[in-house]
Amino acid sequence: MQGQNRTPGRRQVASGYPASHPQQTLANPALLASGSECLAVTTVETIKVEHLKEKLISQAQEVSRLRSELGGTDLEKHRDLLMVENERLRQEMRRCEAELQELRAKPAGPCLGCEHSQESAQLRDKLSQLQLEMAESKGMLSELNLEVQQKTDRLAEVELRLKDCLAEKAQEEERLSRRLRDSHETIASLRAQSPPVKYVIKTVEVESSKTKQALSESQARNQHLQEQVAMQRHVLKEMEQQLQSSHQLTARLRAQIAMYESELERAHGQMLEEMQSLEEDKNRAIEEAFARAQVEMKAVHENLAGVRTNLLTLQPALRTLTNDYNGLKRQVRGFPLLLQEALRSVKAEIGQAIEEVNSNNQELLRKYRRELQLRKKCHNELVRLKGNIRVIARVRPVTKEDGEGPEATNAVTFDADDDSIIHLLHKGKPVSFELDKVFSPQASQQDVFQEVQALITSCIDGFNVCIFAYGQTGAGKTYTMEGTPENPGINQRALQLLFSEVQEKASDWEYTITVSAAEIYNEVLRDLLGKEPQEKLEIRLCPDGSGQLYVPGLTEFQVQSVDDINKVFEFGHTNRTTEFTNLNEHSSRSHALLIVTVRGMDCSTGLRTTGKLNLVDLAGSERVGKSGAEGSRLREAQHINKSLSALGDVIAALRSRQGHVPFRNSKLTYLLQDSLSGDSKTLMVVQVSPVEKNTSETLYSLKFAERVRSVELGPGLRRAELGSWSSQEHLEWEPACQTPQPSARAHSAPSSGTSSRPGSIRRKLQPSA
Ligand code: ADP
Ligand code: MG
Repeated sequence: MQGQNRTPGRRQVASGYPASHPQQTLANPALLASGSECLAVTTVETIKVEHLKEKLISQAQEVSRLRSELGGTDLEKHRDLLMVENERLRQEMRRCEAELQELRAKPAGPCLGCEHSQESAQLRDKLSQLQLEMAESKGMLSELNLEVQQKTDRLAEVELRLKDCLAEKAQEEERLSRRLRDSHETIASLRAQSPPVKYVIKTVEVESSKTKQALSESQARNQHLQEQVAMQRHVLKEMEQQLQSSHQLTARLRAQIAMYESELERAHGQMLEEMQSLEEDKNRAIEEAFARAQVEMKAVHENLAGVRTNLLTLQPALRTLTNDYNGLKRQVRGFPLLLQEALRSVKAEIGQAIEEVNSNNQELLRKYRRELQLRKKCHNELVRLKGNIRVIARVRPVTKEDGEGPEATNAVTFDADDDSIIHLLHKGKPVSFELDKVFSPQASQQDVFQEVQALITSCIDGFNVCIFAYGQTGAGKTYTMEGTPENPGINQRALQLLFSEVQEKASDWEYTITVSAAEIYNEVLRDLLGKEPQEKLEIRLCPDGSGQLYVPGLTEFQVQSVDDINKVFEFGHTNRTTEFTNLNEHSSRSHALLIVTVRGMDCSTGLRTTGKLNLVDLAGSERVGKSGAEGSRLREAQHINKSLSALGDVIAALRSRQGHVPFRNSKLTYLLQDSLSGDSKTLMVVQVSPVEKNTSETLYSLKFAERVRSVELGPGLRRAELGSWSSQEHLEWEPACQTPQPSARAHSAPSSGTSSRPGSIRRKLQPSA
């Protein structure tokens, strides 16, 4: 304001120059001109100085503003704040360290050996890591502190320089104002002196040039100062930036520290929790272990007690064992001698035992033989009780061949309550017969076989058996004996049974089963299994004087299976077919014989048995009309009639125990002599045709059957016979009654059983009565 006020005054002064000077100019125009020029320059200079002064003031103000704005006070405040913050952090750090120390100092005992100690160690590691990080942060903080200190120092320096600059400026200002004053004074004195104006002007000029120089200097200095201020501002800005970054860093560090703290706190809490849970676990585990240990201890105690008692009981046993051992040792020493002695005595004992066994064996063998004989005797007794000649009837069913009409009506009936009764309606009159058993047309092959089964098995025991099929032609004889391939008869079933029975006894007995097949036609015996079936065979006396009969040339096949039997039958059948053109007719007029011989040997005793089974399909029993038959037919009928009558006679003689049994009245009875006499058994199956037209023949057959049976089985007679039958075998040899034999063929007589041709039939001959 002062300057401003002053400036118009100066202007007034300057403007006063020209106003007062026109007189001077008028007086001296040259001087006047130079005086006005000087005035103008001075005015300009004065304005310039004023301007500079103003500038200086504003700069000083600016500096003070800057100082107040960014100067030491704020920095100091910042520094103080940082220092306070530092101090706070340090305190916190110390506190943390103290806590850490405390934690470290806490006993780690409970965790020792615990499963959580590992986790605790991990936590500890983490803690030490955090500590390391904290130490690093501390280092960084101290670095920052140092930096802040350096910056503060530099700031102080800059302030000092600024002060110097200001002082210099003030001095310069002082100098300039002084010179200005001088100049004013000079100008005033010059005005007062007026001439020599030229000199004054010159002085002013000189003075003015000097001022100009000073002004330029001060300008340069001003410039320099301005540059310095700019530089200072720049430095200040940099420092501000640094301060800001340090602030940020501090904030980051603080945040980090806070994070670490929270983490530390969390870790601490976790550690405490874990320690607690560990402590609990430990306590629990200890309790459990203790309980377990107690239980185990108890068990161990019990075991110990058991072991003790065992030991107590074992001790005496051990003592006895030791004693035994010692005794054994002594015995072992004397063992060889003992052994020899023992061997001697054992040998003697064994010898004695063998002798005893031998004698026992002998005794047993004797007893066994006696038993065998007894068994046979008993069997005989049984047979005698049952009757050794039994007669059964089998009625065949009505067939197509019987035709139709009244002739083919059924004339046979049965008793529903008694299977041994058969009724026949003959010429309107009912006739009844009683036999051992009657089979109706419904009876199967197996049913019939069941009846004869016991007879067949007795062969294995050495008995001779004869089974005859009797009846008129077409009554079913061949069906019963041979049967059909699908439904075999007694022949095949008998052999099958023998095989199975023999097999059952195979462990004790050795059996061989042989078969022969023969036929008797017109009182001529033929071999059905021979190579020349037309050859007539003879029945001869054994030349060894044993009194037995044999048939030289009769083929005998050994059979072992059903296949063998079938082959044999087939062979016999073929022989018969080739030999006779009308087989049916021929077979009905001839007797067909299947002779099965069962030879056995007891493996243990060497005892031998021979049983013979004769299965005979007899010739038809029908009578030939006296008028109608002649020639060969008549001869056949006579032969059949003779042989069947002879069979009836033999049976009758046997049963009535006649002194003479006429075996030699026919080839059949002669051949079967040893199978009919003695303890042999005979079964007669009387075949019956049921139809009306055959009733005469049926009547005849049944009468024959009853005659045989009544001779045989009259109840009073049978009982009377029982005691003496077995001893009453009066088998006769009647050479006088023998039918004329054809000349003997040249067959070598076989020596009992070793013949090259096994086909000889032998029989025991009893001395004639
Ligand atoms: P035979 O030998 O007495 O002359 P067969 O045995 O040849 O008589 O029998 C004459 C017929 O009657 C044959 O066709 C035979 O098959 C049949 N036959 C005989 N008995 C029976 C029976 N029990 N069941 C069925 N058919 C039978
Ligand atoms: Mg027949």
